[in-house]
Amino acid sequence: MSDNTSHVGFGELPLDERLTIAREGTSWFARHLAGISDGDLDEPSSLPGWSRKHLVAHVGYNAAALTNLVTWASTGVETPMYPSAQQRNTEIEEGATLSAAALRNLFDHTAARLDEGWRHLAADRWDFPVRTIQGRTVAASETAWMRTREVWIHTVDLGSGATFDGFGEPILVSLFDDVLGAWRRQSAGGRLRLVVDDGAPTDVDPAFDGARSQVIGTLAAVVGWMCGRSTDGIANPDDVPPPRWL
Ligand code: ZN
Repeated sequence: MSDNTSHVGFGELPLDERLTIAREGTSWFARHLAGISDGDLDEPSSLPGWSRKHLVAHVGYNAAALTNLVTWASTGVETPMYPSAQQRNTEIEEGATLSAAALRNLFDHTAARLDEGWRHLAADRWDFPVRTIQGRTVAASETAWMRTREVWIHTVDLGSGATFDGFGEPILVSLFDDVLGAWRRQSAGGRLRLVVDDGAPTDVDPAFDGARSQVIGTLAAVVGWMCGRSTDGIANPDDVPPPRWL
């Protein structure tokens, strides 16, 4: 959405507003989680191969991993998100075998610890460089966006009725940019032309010289489709699947 200046992205908001959006996402996830019975936590989530329990464990451990980055920024002592990618996956598999009560606790406790870390991080430490599990070096303030992405999208993945229509515009604008950037880096989806409402179309590969495939909808619908979550409200005449982005 970078070509459309009327839209404000997440990264353009002041830090306190970014943290508020992350916290609102945690609350949204918590409300949906509270509405799912213990028994229904064993049912599949919308993510292939993952039960809702896998998802809750993952979102909980994600908060713990981001808390590590905040600690890293605070102390200056290298504290990776996870000891290894393997460890991260093992943790989720084992987490999914916990009782419903233990998982609800894990979610609450890890979210509270992350919030506490954010509240105590000194103003001059938010720019401190930390490294993500993907090996990217980012400022500690990026944890606000990393958490926002996780909790908002994974609330939809709980499969209890949440949709991208519930996202605020800054989240949608920044997700649009994230996915578009990932596709461009991977040279994926070059023939796609994304058309949001009546706005200017965005060509994934502006240099592509063939017949383009249009994907048309509201910003929420297009972003939900780009994230591989939903085809609701989308016109996609060539029936193109969205390329992977993560
Ligand atoms: Zn995730």
